[in-house]
Formats: sequence, structure tokens, C-alpha cells
Amino acid sequence: MSAQLIRALLLALLAAVVAVPVGHFVAIWAGWAVFCAGFGLQLAFHFRNFARLERWSRAPVVDSSLEGEGAWDGVFGRLYRHEKELRAQIARRDDEIAMLIAAGQALTDGVVLLDENNHILFCNTTAEAQLGLVVRTDRGQPVVNLVRQPEFVGYLTDADFSRPLTLRSDRNEDRVFSIYVLPYAGNRRLMQVKDVTQTDRLDRMRRDFVANVSHELRTPLTVLAGFLETLQEIEVDREEQVRYLALMAEQSQRMQSIVQDLLTLSSIESAPPPENQPVDMPNLIDKLRRDAEALSNGRHQIAVETNAQVDLRGSEPELVSAFGNLVANAVRYTPAGGTIRIIWRASAAGAEFAVEDTGIGIEAKHIPRLTERFYRVDRGRSRDAGGTGLGLAIVKHSLSRHQAQLEIKSEPGVGSRFSARFPVARVLGV
Ligand code: ADP
Repeated sequence: MSAQLIRALLLALLAAVVAVPVGHFVAIWAGWAVFCAGFGLQLAFHFRNFARLERWSRAPVVDSSLEGEGAWDGVFGRLYRHEKELRAQIARRDDEIAMLIAAGQALTDGVVLLDENNHILFCNTTAEAQLGLVVRTDRGQPVVNLVRQPEFVGYLTDADFSRPLTLRSDRNEDRVFSIYVLPYAGNRRLMQVKDVTQTDRLDRMRRDFVANVSHELRTPLTVLAGFLETLQEIEVDREEQVRYLALMAEQSQRMQSIVQDLLTLSSIESAPPPENQPVDMPNLIDKLRRDAEALSNGRHQIAVETNAQVDLRGSEPELVSAFGNLVANAVRYTPAGGTIRIIWRASAAGAEFAVEDTGIGIEAKHIPRLTERFYRVDRGRSRDAGGTGLGLAIVKHSLSRHQAQLEIKSEPGVGSRFSARFPVARVLGV
């Protein structure tokens, strides 16, 4: 029997103990009155506490408003502790949920949680930006009503998630996403959206590059094979033979140039950052001038303009290759009688190496693409001039490894200016 019940019985007994003598010695009704008064007091006491409990239970708060008397004190105390513990548990859960949401938000991949009918339960800000969702208004909406691309809708409907879906964004053509769907908590789905734009671009560049290299090498190779076959099968006179051999030598020279430029490019790409060795610029400029004169063979005027005796810090072979390509291009794309200027200037902001020519010039639309591998304005002209289409790619790469910017200005029929600006940190003796 519980202590409260015993106490209640004892109090009733006490009322009876007082009421019986009163009933006996005074009057029966007086005895009953005493007994009822005792009982009524008890009832009033319990009712008061019950009313307090009832009031509190409507809006439970953890404060002193839940203080009881007598046996109620124990009950209220337990309720108070229970409520407090419950609230602490809820606060801990809220913290955990907030942390999970924060972790979801911190992910660099997009995350969308879907219910069994593909309705949105949650998505992080990355997914909002990637797929154009707004979690506040889109929660509860079918995701296919918001991302309507047929390949995406088909992927969710077919429900074969063994492979990710590659989705080219229809909101932003440049972005490519890889979408993984993982089942969780029964029929729910977790959609992970990875931005693979960069990998996709590299992949495409690699494929284009292999296709370009194959194409570039196949042409001279086909010519060589053709001549070889002719020489093997047909009897040709000495004069014809000499002509064939000269053409074959030309094609093999072309292949050699392409392979040489490819090797240069790959060695620059895979090399560690360039050393900080001093590069004797007056000496290098002089060598560039002599090379230009040799290549020009008297067809152009070659001038050197320099206001400085400063040197560069960097990798000499890479700089020679970059500057050499600019000078060679100027000679190759400037008709006879033109002028080529090699410029080396220092200023407080750094130093500038430039090559100016009065050559054929370049239309503005081609300029942003000139440093792409194998990009040429005029394929035939470049080939006739002995170009590989890799020169400016090498230039750009070597310069950027020296923190230098390549600037191209050109006007068709007037000439071009290719310049490289080096920061002060790369210049010795300013
Ligand atoms: P290429 O081996 O064909 O010269 P580059 O990468 O060095 O390849 O140059 C790319 C293209 O840029 C060239 O094919 C040519 O059309 C153009 N170009 C480069 N330098 C000049 C220049 N000085 N004047 C005119 N066009 C140029």
C-alpha cells in the first residue's frame, strides 16, 4: 500500500477518533459534522493541489510554480524533474539536428533528401544553387516539378540508380552535374549532386587533344607513306626521286617539330615551379635578335628597344622558349619588308618583354583562343610557315609559371603586339 494512501486513511481515522467522542458526548450530528469537516479539509487540500497541477499541465514550465504540499510535493517534484529532463533531451536533440543540418550545409556537394514519392524533405544551399531550388518554398514539392529536364525525370522514374546520372544544367549551360541517388530509411532517397564541370572540361580537353595530335601527325604521315609506296612500286627518275625525298624530309621535319613542341609543353606542365636563377636579359635579347635575323634571312628589319639593364629571375630554358616563340611568330607572320621590334622595359611595377610586328595581324574574334593548343587563324598559312599550333600554348604556360601575363593586341593588316608583364618579384636590379 502506498504511503499516501496510508496517510489518507490515518487522517480519516483521526477525524473518526475525534468525531466518535463528540458524537457520543455531544450529539450524533456534531460527531458527523466533525468527521465531515475533517474529511472536507482533506478534500479541499487535495483539490487545491490538483487545481495547481491542472493549471500547470496546461502550460508546463520548469519553475517554482509547481510546488506542492504534503504528499503532492513528492509527485510535483518527480513531475518537475521529468519535465526538466525532457526539456534537456529536446534541447540536446535540437542541437544534434542543428549540427546535422549545419554539416549538410557545409558539404560542397549538393544534397537533397526525398521521401518515397520524390517529394523534397530537405536540401542544402549547394543543391539550391545547383538545381535552382528554394528549400523554404519547395519543401514538400515533387522534385520533378522543379527540375524538369527529361533525362532527370526519366532517371528518377526508372529508379535504376546503379550508375550516376550526368546532367548538363539547363539553367547554366556551362555546368555539368553527376547525380547519385542512394536509398535510406526504407523508401526514402538521398540525392547527391556533384559538380563535375571541371572534370568534364578536362576530359573533353584530353579527348580533343588526342584527336588533334592524331590529326596533326596523320597528315604528314599519310604524305610520307604515299611517297614511300610510290617509290617502292614505281620506277622514277633521279630528278623525281630527289623531289620526292625533299618533300618527305619536309613532312618528317614537320612531325619532328610537332613532337618537339609536345615534349616541351609536357615538360613545362609536369616540371616543378621554375627556379629563381638570374636570367641575363641583355644577353638573351641579343640572342633573340640574332635568331630573328637568321629566320628572317634579310626579309625584315629587326630592331631592339630597351630602357633597362635589369634581369629576370626564373627558368632560362622556359623563358627562351616563350620569347623565342613570340619572335619566331613575328617573323613568320610578317611579310617581307616589315619591321619586328623586340622590346625590354622595366618600370616600378615590374618589367615588360614585348614583340611588335607590322605583319598580317589577327582579327579580334581569334585573339581569346590563340593560346589553345593547335588553334590557328589560318591552318594552311601556319603550316606553310612551319608552325605547329603549339607555340602560344607554350608561351602562355611558361609565362604563367613566372607569374607573367600575356597580352595580345593586334589589327588585321597593321600588325601585332605580344607582351609579357613580369611582377617586381621576378625582376632583378629595378
Ligand atoms: P603556330 O605554330 O601556328 O604559329 P602559335 O600557337 O604560335 O601556332 O600561334 C597560333 C596562331 O596565332 C597562329 O597560327 C597564327 O594564326 C596566329 N599568330 C601568332 N602570332 C602571330 C603574329 N605575330 N601575327 C599574326 N598572327 C599570329
